[in-house]
Amino acid sequence: MRYQPLSFLNIPYSLKSLPLNGHFDFDEIHHAASDFGNRYQFLPLAVLHPKSVSDIATTIRHIWQLGPGSELTVAARGHGHSLQGQAQAHRGIVVNMKSLSGLKMHTYTGKHPYVDVSGGELWINVLHETLKYGLAPKSWTDYLYLSVGGTLSNAGISGQSFRHGPQISNVHQLEVVTGKGEVVNCSEKKNADLFYGVLGGLGQFGIITRAIISLEPAPKMVKWIRVLYSDFATFVRDQEHLISAEKTFDYIEGFVIINKTGLLNNWRSSFNPQDPVQARQFESDGRTLFCLELAKNFNPDEIDIEIENLLSQLSFVSSTLFMSEVSYIEFLDRVHASEIKLRSKGLWEVPHPWLNLLVPRSKIHDFALEVFGNILTDTSNGNILIYPVNKSRWDKRTSVVLPDEDIFYLVAFLSSAIPFSTGTDGLERILNQNKRIIDFCEEAHLGVKQYLPHYTTEEKWKAHFGKDWEVFVQRKLAYDPLAILAPGQKIFQKSD
Ligand code: FAD
Repeated sequence: MRYQPLSFLNIPYSLKSLPLNGHFDFDEIHHAASDFGNRYQFLPLAVLHPKSVSDIATTIRHIWQLGPGSELTVAARGHGHSLQGQAQAHRGIVVNMKSLSGLKMHTYTGKHPYVDVSGGELWINVLHETLKYGLAPKSWTDYLYLSVGGTLSNAGISGQSFRHGPQISNVHQLEVVTGKGEVVNCSEKKNADLFYGVLGGLGQFGIITRAIISLEPAPKMVKWIRVLYSDFATFVRDQEHLISAEKTFDYIEGFVIINKTGLLNNWRSSFNPQDPVQARQFESDGRTLFCLELAKNFNPDEIDIEIENLLSQLSFVSSTLFMSEVSYIEFLDRVHASEIKLRSKGLWEVPHPWLNLLVPRSKIHDFALEVFGNILTDTSNGNILIYPVNKSRWDKRTSVVLPDEDIFYLVAFLSSAIPFSTGTDGLERILNQNKRIIDFCEEAHLGVKQYLPHYTTEEKWKAHFGKDWEVFVQRKLAYDPLAILAPGQKIFQKSD
């Protein structure tokens, strides 16, 4: 391979001269320097709006041929819902993956149904498309306005993960453009190392341009249930019972309610017990409560006698049963309703200093005692999710980093900061709180791993990957040796 040296000034010209179906934009680039986290802004040189996979391949191949001297990098931007600039490329090229979503989706019915989609497609569109055939993906995220490539680069965890595994456990095949500009099809059988590397690979080994995703018959309706606990040990015991039981719910999550004032026993007068949404606003009278969230799929002609039986095995605070029936779409798309409300109040585009942790089951009590009993006693600045998943549903060949136990909990502190506030809802205060939580986990040797991790030093990345670091580095050398891809993850640096 002979590299072609090119001065930085000539680069826009050389990009403009590439034979593409789509185009580069060198002016409208500011949106590519933002994300949901709203804390990091790195301006790219250009945004590529590809109209075909070969546009992406041609661009990356060109940059690969420029060699290490050009410093140009490429970040795929799915829906830009990263938290810390992961989909940004400082003075590099951001690929607007949504332009590719014009490529048609194909749903295959039959014994093992699947859908073939563009990597830039949003999950909400995948849902609408597959429902036309009475089918749907098996594993979800809580929010559907995320791209297929974006969540497969992380894992895609939600209340179905205990049974089906995360989204990366439900993919049959990928089409990937590597850091050398090669278009490669990969699966368990073909180019398996690249396939597993890309899944949970933080965008480091290739840009996912297509994915074949496993489907199942979609239910029409969902019984959506929330019940409350005042005792953490009982709450997690019931959660673990449900994720291990053979007959169980289709979706199992949970969240923490910290210090909502009001009268615990008055809730019936102010809340509609039929509506699970109301459980979130439950007045906890200054106490910390734990809400178990469940869903059971059903079709209108079926009467599910299982639910009563399943609920009778649980030890929630009696009289705190919130249950309703909603359509499957309404249930899966539930966070979008909150988004619309928050947007109308100007509270969606605020800084989001989120912290997502994977906590080993054996340490969840130590974790809760310190975090909910000491660090976060007064208030929380957003939802705190907490639910267990079975590691047996995760494929250990993927790049995702997990705790060393068969069951682990996702604990997600989904905080929003109020701009310019110096109070408890200010960015600095929340970041400080996050740091206290992380420091505690490290000092107490809880074996916690971060989900959607963000580190800025190689030492920290090495510690994050642990024994898997060598494999990760080898894969980088094999598929993106110049470190062109996903520079915003700050794992590798493009250099001579
Ligand atoms: P982007 O922010 O665009 O990209 C993320 C990373 O992936 C970047 O490094 C980017 O370069 C890379 N990338 C993007 N597209 C591709 C591609 N096609 N090929 C290769 N690399 C690519 N996660 C969960 O697991 N479960 C949840 O329930 C969940 N809920 C969320 C709710 C909200 C409101 C938000 C904001 C995030 C949530 N997340 C959840 C996190 C989410 O999965 C990740 O932030 C994900 O990366 C966002 O997808 P995106 O398309 O916006 O990715």
